[in-house]
Amino acid sequence: VAELVKSIAQTTDLVDTYVPGHRTCAGCGPAIAYRLVAKAAGKNTIFVGPTGCMYVANTSYACGPWAVPWTHAQITNAGAVASGIAEAFRMMIKKGKIQDEFPNIIVMAGDGGCSDIGLQAMSAMFYRGHKVLCVMYDNESYANTGIQVSPSTPYGATTMFTPAGPEIPEAKKHHLKDPMAIFCSGGHPYIKYGATASIGYPIDLMNKIRKGLAQDGPAFVHLQCTCPKGWSFPSDRTIEISKLAVETGMWNLYEVENGDWANKKFTNMPKKLKPVDDYLQTQGRFSHLQPEHVVKIQNFVNNRAKALGMEVPLPPAK
Ligand code: SF4
Ligand code: MG
Repeated sequence: VAELVKSIAQTTDLVDTYVPGHRTCAGCGPAIAYRLVAKAAGKNTIFVGPTGCMYVANTSYACGPWAVPWTHAQITNAGAVASGIAEAFRMMIKKGKIQDEFPNIIVMAGDGGCSDIGLQAMSAMFYRGHKVLCVMYDNESYANTGIQVSPSTPYGATTMFTPAGPEIPEAKKHHLKDPMAIFCSGGHPYIKYGATASIGYPIDLMNKIRKGLAQDGPAFVHLQCTCPKGWSFPSDRTIEISKLAVETGMWNLYEVENGDWANKKFTNMPKKLKPVDDYLQTQGRFSHLQPEHVVKIQNFVNNRAKALGMEVPLPPAK
């Protein structure tokens, strides 16, 4: 088990393997996430990158910003590609064909590549128990093709496929799919470690990566990543809005150890939740919302907080 990180100062001693040379937007949350994940993992790491912003914007003109091995996978099949890499290493080490230490194998999949289009291969990888960490960097849309709706897009957000109009004034009308519940609540018995994380809490994020990599089998980290382009906010507010998500309960930080979903541990519990409107106001994708839509979101957040077992004062839904 890699030692846990205690402070930001300590991270300056860690090697960067996600290095300059990518072409993501200014203030891109997933790019910050990639750097932190790569730093936490270290040099003996292989990244699998299914199609998404962290493939497309990172690999323009046949170059990429990784100082460790990286391979592209289709958006559908990162789970299968990573399974193959893990089994190849396992067998080559077992047969004595290589003397290497088993590498950290990390899938960096977007919300589409993990919990939507990529779901079947990812579920199969988790089910078979391969030693792979899947990090779902969640920018809450299909961003690299121009911000289309995904199951991670929150209720009420505008995307190219969910514009607000007279028929559906709130824009997106469905609530979220929950990949932590899908993967880590018992349906995938070999996942012994699952966590949610945020780029607004980098030490917590890096330690969750290290705990995931320390498992003997698969692990899952669902990582919210603010996206200035898709969510319409100025690029210098990336971290502030990430923190606001946690402070309002729009994002919750917890971990599930030893597959014990019932006893999930909150790694950040706000003293009380701020109203969701504080978060919604920061982003253009919510600018069309009427008060009744905001009430609906507040209700959703309050109910989710209760269902997760957060014992914290909740704002009134009115
Ligand atoms: Fe990053 Fe969003 Fe730009 Fe994609 S669209 S590169 S996720 S800021
Ligand atoms: Mg996405």
